[in-house]
Amino acid sequence: MNSKKIKINLVTGGAGFLGSNLINKLMKNNEIVICLDNLFTGDIDNIKQWINHPNFDFIEHDVIDPIEINVDRIWHLACPASPIHYQINPIKTSKTSFLGTYNMLGLAKKNKARILLASTSEIYGDPEVNPQPENYNGSVNTTGIRSCYDEGKRIAETLCSDYKRIHNLDIRIIRIFNTFGPKMQINDGRVISNFIVQALKGLPLTIYGDGKQIRSFCYVDDLIKGMIKLMESNFSEPINIGNPKQFTILEIAKIIKETINPDLKFIYKSLPQDDPIQRQPDIQKAIKELKWHPETDFEDGLNLTIKWFSEILKK
Ligand code: NAD
Ligand code: UDP
Repeated sequence: MNSKKIKINLVTGGAGFLGSNLINKLMKNNEIVICLDNLFTGDIDNIKQWINHPNFDFIEHDVIDPIEINVDRIWHLACPASPIHYQINPIKTSKTSFLGTYNMLGLAKKNKARILLASTSEIYGDPEVNPQPENYNGSVNTTGIRSCYDEGKRIAETLCSDYKRIHNLDIRIIRIFNTFGPKMQINDGRVISNFIVQALKGLPLTIYGDGKQIRSFCYVDDLIKGMIKLMESNFSEPINIGNPKQFTILEIAKIIKETINPDLKFIYKSLPQDDPIQRQPDIQKAIKELKWHPETDFEDGLNLTIKWFSEILKK
């Protein structure tokens, strides 16, 4: 007899880009999943294949309000992630990060559930060291247009750490670096989705600043594997998950232009305030503690993402 108890997974933000990719993986592993989302940046289409499945439930709910449900695992992803979205209502973004995390920690405490917080490389701000290891404390503006998100995630990490210290809560903190792939929204606003959608529509690619700022991009399947490995591990300190391969934004634009339409032009727009100049994960901890490293080449992930957006744009 298999005495292993089937776990109930709550995925907040489950209708979004990462949440819906995570749900696909959990559902394919025959787990029970409750998706909780207020549909601010998420799309019900992302989870529609599971709506009538007996192992799946969807609750339309805002994490800033408390909720009572029975759960064993909480994957706390609810929060807009793209700068254009988290800046629409920055006060709401701060509330989502603080109150949303506070409510989910309360729920985890009541249920004695393990909780994973989706944190971000943004907690390092505009870093003075490259790559960024987990013990780098960051360089963050507290009053700028990105602060609602950056500081929101920092206080969310603080809350998790204090619940661990004071209530012995079983926490996991994943610091996610820029990730891309299928199920991003057309209007997501982040660089890879913007460039692909612009290129597929024959529009010029919008480069902010001189395009020399550096990012590293992780394909979503790799990220989700790392997230699941972290949840299953005993590691309760913050951990970076991302792909260390670096690109300038101009290099990304050139690759996407050559892949989709070599005739495209670039247009240059001003660099948004506090836009980090460089960002690259140090993933030594993930390699050692989780035996995780990214496996997908940027170009392979890009082709899968282009295919996704081509199909969406045909609808
Ligand atoms: P997304 O915007 O696609 O998804 C966020 C989801 O959260 C959406 O479905 C949205 O409707 C929901 N949501 C937002 N506010 C909510 C609220 N108050 N109550 C309930 N639901 C709410 O973003 P994503 O890229 O899937 O990011 C998911 C998580 O991962 C976020 O917490 C984000 O900060 C983190 N993260 C993502 C990246 C990345 O590159 N994608 C990088 C770093 C961190
Ligand atoms: N960016 C750009 N053109 C766009 C969208 C973004 O040049 O159409 C730049 C943006 O200024 C930043 C980088 O690309 O320097 C990554 O932006 P994104 O919003 O994807 O992520 P983040 O800034 O949060 O790393």
